[in-house]
Amino acid sequence: MEKTLYKNGIFEFIEEEKIYTINNSSRNIKRFFVRRPPGIRAIIVNDKNEILLSKEYRYELETFDYRLPGGKVFDNLEDYQKSVKDNTLLDSIYNTVTKEVKEEVGIKIKNPILYHVSHAGSSIVWDLYYFLINDYKIIKNGQELEENEIVEGFVWKNYNEIIKMCIEKQIHEERTIGVLLSYILEKQNN
Ligand SMILES: [Mg+2]
Repeated sequence: MEKTLYKNGIFEFIEEEKIYTINNSSRNIKRFFVRRPPGIRAIIVNDKNEILLSKEYRYELETFDYRLPGGKVFDNLEDYQKSVKDNTLLDSIYNTVTKEVKEEVGIKIKNPILYHVSHAGSSIVWDLYYFLINDYKIIKNGQELEENEIVEGFVWKNYNEIIKMCIEKQIHEERTIGVLLSYILEKQNN
């Protein structure tokens, strides 16, 4: 059973009490966690097997960073909770991929394939949905940034260049580093 102790903006602070059955024995576990609505990340791959990275100013880093295009699925908790209640969460997530990629880098995509869901941790629930995209069209001057977003543009990078960027910390988001490196290793081993 979940009890919301506090909520504000996009965050909920939750107390959960639940029975877990592990190796045929039951335990009643009480835990506390913060939850926020999920985000998406797009792995756009061209016919030369290069992956698109956007160059975006990050306020938390106070510098530019190379990132996978992406963003949040909901602007507020109410929309997220409504989507969960109506069982339309996955639809909202798929719609966001198309919308975010179009707005951020001016690329129209089709047929995104869900590749991986990354979980943040036990005390912070913040899922990131990673999508693979091979079907896209670059639109000239297609970028439509949100007010506080600064995206300078995008670059295509091959596997070795991406590995180097991960090592040299030109890509800061560690969850994305993990997903990109496992994607590259999977491809290289096939
Ligand atoms: Mg974004």
